[in-house]
Amino acid sequence: MQLSHAPHRPVAGLDLKDALLVGALVFVCSIFGIYTAPPGVLAAFWPTNAVLVGLLLRRAHPPTAAYWLAAIAGYIVADLIMRHGWPKTVMLTTTNLMGVSVCYALLKRMSDDMRGLRHPRSMLRFVLVALCGAAAAGVGGTVIHPALFGGTRAYGFLFWFSTELVNTIAILPVLLTMPDLARRLAGRGRRGDAPAWRIGHLAPLAAFAGSLWLETQLGGPGVISFPIPAMLWCALTYSLFATAGITLLFSMWTLLAIASGMLAIGAAVDTPQAVMSLRVGVTLTALAPLAVASVMVARNELLARLQHAASHDPLTQVLNRGGFMARADTVQAAAVLMMDIDFFKKVNDTHGHAAGDAVLAHFARVAAGCLRAGDVLGRLGGEEFAVLLPGSAPGDARAIAQRICDAFAAQPAVLESGVRLHATVSIGLGCRKAADTPIGTLLSQADAALYSAKHAGRNRVGVA
Ligand code: GH3
Ligand code: MG
Ligand code: MG
Repeated sequence: MQLSHAPHRPVAGLDLKDALLVGALVFVCSIFGIYTAPPGVLAAFWPTNAVLVGLLLRRAHPPTAAYWLAAIAGYIVADLIMRHGWPKTVMLTTTNLMGVSVCYALLKRMSDDMRGLRHPRSMLRFVLVALCGAAAAGVGGTVIHPALFGGTRAYGFLFWFSTELVNTIAILPVLLTMPDLARRLAGRGRRGDAPAWRIGHLAPLAAFAGSLWLETQLGGPGVISFPIPAMLWCALTYSLFATAGITLLFSMWTLLAIASGMLAIGAAVDTPQAVMSLRVGVTLTALAPLAVASVMVARNELLARLQHAASHDPLTQVLNRGGFMARADTVQAAAVLMMDIDFFKKVNDTHGHAAGDAVLAHFARVAAGCLRAGDVLGRLGGEEFAVLLPGSAPGDARAIAQRICDAFAAQPAVLESGVRLHATVSIGLGCRKAADTPIGTLLSQADAALYSAKHAGRNRVGVA
């Protein structure tokens, strides 16, 4: 099974293997649901439908008929093994598929961000989808319940509606927000700027566990909301996926603790209506932390975009003056380069401003290609660029400067019209002699060296 949004062409063999896996998972989840059901009643914890919707949505390519057939087979085989007989099996499978197909169809139409719960409004949309899916299953319940258990249509609707709603809201967020493992592994090297893990990060989880324990110690109808502050703390600290896992844990634990008598809420949960009310109530409680986690993801992505826009130059995509100077304060540069394109005004005057822009973008690409990982390139303004070289011996720094100079002279910028524009650059090199030399002094030295390179005839490296 591939959990990926990447475009992917289905290969016949792979498709069949994936379909078999879908069928097997549907079968296993159904058997689990049937075994954990109280005797004589339909399963209340029924993970199959939510898991199936998650699988259908998170695969690399749209589900083929093979997936649906495999899923149907999974439901049917599980029911037949449990000796439900054909009429009951067909009715149960049809009702399950009604809920699944409505949920799947509605979620499939959403954007990736909305469906992945990374949009501020995605939890509200998600609840609407869950309500529609639950209503579809509820309609099936109006037929099944009177036919199989002799109950009323209204009760049949309520039972299927509430069960489907609870399972969808509790389980599906975990699947929708599950990180793409393949993409994670591929991008592992680039996550260097992620905040380091600290022992303090366990505090929200400890508070969550503590509040679950406190519930059992105090009892009473109010205790169900005790873990909310800790879950909100988790939502502000952990990933969306982790928060979804924690809220699933909360729902399952609370319901199991009440059912087993470990958690005494002081109210009688002895009628089917009371059980439904409790299950729906506990599940809806978990929506608040999930919504907070969604808003946090959207906010963090927006902040990251703003931060990038504020510190980078849109034309060349390298750091702008502000971003470069901020980095200069944190990077201990052993040497700096000041670089100024030669006779750039002439390029503008002869070929136009757009051609000048193309030469600037081309220069940034050429210079970046000559640098090592850890070197910092920035555009200080106009046609002036600078580089911070951490940990470079003077000889290395000079070699890098010469490499940039030679590479830019050798590679013309190719304009949209196809015209090839040759340009050159002059570079000044400043090397740090004492550890406490301020970066401003180093930049001034490099500037003076650049000035001497210009006077010596341009297209060369000057050394302070
Ligand atoms: P020198 O060899 O002495 O450096 O000569 P120069 O012509 O490169 O230097 P000068 O400082 O006289 O000219 C710089 C020109 O860069 C002037 C300005 O119009 C142009 N310029 C500044 N920013 C941009 C930009 O973003 N795009 C374009 N196309 N031109 C720019
Ligand atoms: Mg200049
Ligand atoms: Mg210039």
